[in-house]
Amino acid sequence: MTANTEHPSLLDLPPLTAEHFAAVEDKIASLLHTRCDVVAMQGEALLPLEACIRSAAAPGSTALNIVTGPYGETFGGWLRSCGADVVTLSAPFTGAVGAQEVADALREHPGTGLVSLVHAEAATGNTNPVAEIGAVVREHGALLMLDAVASVGAEPLLTDEWGVDLCVIGGQKALAGPAGVSAVSVSARAWERILANPQAPRRSYLSLLDWKERWLDGGRKALPHAPAQLEMLALEQAVDRIAAEGLDASITRHRAASAALRAGARRLPALEPYVVRDQDAAPVATTLRTPAGLDAHEVVAAALAADGRVPVQSAAGVLGTEMLRVNHYGRAADRAVAVDTVRALADGLRTLGVEGEGSARDEAAEAAGAAWDAVLAG
Ligand SMILES: *Cc1c(COP(=O)(O)O)cnc(C)c1O
Repeated sequence: MTANTEHPSLLDLPPLTAEHFAAVEDKIASLLHTRCDVVAMQGEALLPLEACIRSAAAPGSTALNIVTGPYGETFGGWLRSCGADVVTLSAPFTGAVGAQEVADALREHPGTGLVSLVHAEAATGNTNPVAEIGAVVREHGALLMLDAVASVGAEPLLTDEWGVDLCVIGGQKALAGPAGVSAVSVSARAWERILANPQAPRRSYLSLLDWKERWLDGGRKALPHAPAQLEMLALEQAVDRIAAEGLDASITRHRAASAALRAGARRLPALEPYVVRDQDAAPVATTLRTPAGLDAHEVVAAALAADGRVPVQSAAGVLGTEMLRVNHYGRAADRAVAVDTVRALADGLRTLGVEGEGSARDEAAEAAGAAWDAVLAG
């Protein structure tokens, strides 16, 4: 498609009204299964994530930060810079954190007022049992903040039922939407704690209280400033498209992609799923492990040389030597993409001199397709 510079379709749109903005927030609330306030924040998902922590973590308070991937590490830095005492509970990237470990940590640190948790980790391919963890946190009385950026649309996300007080989502993963706006739901308990925090940001881009006082409390009649109109419209279309497909169908599609990649990888020479148990594997992305002596960067490059369209990428940082990642989210949660990815990995491995049995490539592709079909057949 060539850009039409005479009639650019992204310009000269009528202003996004407060009513329309509020309607987008309501659609997100429905997607999150929440009756709490939802604020559509005008930036990438790191904005509401940092806003939640700076709003809810008072100086001198205790926070339990659960680290199952790189985002949790980022949260720890923000919590410390708020003056919170941070208790860190880490799980290896090969699995998930268990509710019992969270219960033990809370018993050891009874003053904990805030728990930060990532639902699915796109970067490391694992997902945590939020329902069970949420019950433990609720019983203890702490607030639960959840990064659901990589789970929304890809796996069940029952914000209110699970007792999530601050639930952050973005549009750029399973929703196949824009990255430039995001959203957070805020429970009544969370507002109470935030209002009681003298350091909660005000008159700041990071402020949740500004949105409460200048938008929510006035009945969402007037926007406090010009919204990111194009991104809001794109987010609305992404949420509408999921609703038209059916949220359950989207979740099934992502689950099928994960099953296909795991089944296919198990038939390939040299590769194996990085996340050991299927139940801990995120539906949004599959991470694969290479054996010692085979650099995962090279496997990624060889697979992309075989088929440049497959969503394969190196893991960030030092992990990139032994981990590669298949981003099967959004439109890439697709049977043909999953099968083609397995074939590209097989072809790439062969060019690196890693040969399986003669029929390994076809068997792996068949296993991926069969695993996809089995999930869809229920
Ligand atoms: C993708 C993602 C985000 C948003 O981060 P970007 O890399 O800036 O898109 C936040 N949290 C999680 C768990 C994510 O997967």
